[in-house]
Amino acid sequence: MIKKNGIVSFIGAGPGEPELITVKGKRLLQEADVVVYAGSLVNEKVLQYAKKDAAIYNSASMNLEEIMKVMVDAAKAGKKVARLHTGDPILYSALQEQADILEREKIPYEIVSGVSSAFASAAALKTELTMPEITQTVIFTRLEGRTSVPAKERLSELARHNATMCIFLSIGMMEKVVEELKHGYTEDTPIAVVYRATWEDEKIVRGTLCDIAEKVTRAGIERQAMIIVGRTLGQGPAPAGSKQGSRVKGQKSKLYDKDFEHGYRKSDV
Ligand code: SAH
Repeated sequence: MIKKNGIVSFIGAGPGEPELITVKGKRLLQEADVVVYAGSLVNEKVLQYAKKDAAIYNSASMNLEEIMKVMVDAAKAGKKVARLHTGDPILYSALQEQADILEREKIPYEIVSGVSSAFASAAALKTELTMPEITQTVIFTRLEGRTSVPAKERLSELARHNATMCIFLSIGMMEKVVEELKHGYTEDTPIAVVYRATWEDEKIVRGTLCDIAEKVTRAGIERQAMIIVGRTLGQGPAPAGSKQGSRVKGQKSKLYDKDFEHGYRKSDV
């Protein structure tokens, strides 16, 4: 039997900066009796929003069974559970295996979006990921690690599209990433690495496929970083004194073009 009110809310805690949790996520965290957070990446500062007497668990040192027992027992006792994932919970967060168990136990749950580190990293780079005439597609992917990746989704295959790519969970294998990307992108394609986007110690390394691996090694970045590659990166403001990347100027977006009519605005001509 599940008592009234028992529910698990999977909440995207955002990339790090505590203000980047959504208003809804923060409210649910404030109301939660039990909080389970992914301590390896979720900023503990978001826990300041939790009730003083909430039971708080760091899932980093727990296995799936232990995590699920805490959440299932609490929800069955009519408690509200906030399960905090880094970024957005629908990307690389093992959400489904937790949700499957809740379904089996007939425990209600909801998923509350968060700001993915892919978006926070693009913001840190001050770059738009889609631009007319350059690319209209963004690929979220990763290099194969302990988790396998379907053959058709190898980086070398995806690179052939020349779309913008946000590569998660792969910074520890930067040389391999570059080697695979070279199958599709030219060597002068801009690429950037954002370490701990929105945290106080955020670091940005920009380069091209020719030099990024070496720059990342020199910067000592080995984990918690997003790799973004693609021609839209060459469009941002140049860092002072740098000569990086090739900077083809993209076409302007049609959205604000004076000749472009859309639902809310008649064209100027
Ligand atoms: N659900 C998360 C991703 C979890 S997988 C999201 O939407 O962001 C963990 C990977 O996300 C890390 O290996 C890294 O590639 C990336 N990541 C998480 N937080 C990050 C941050 N603050 N800055 C850069 N990359 C980050």
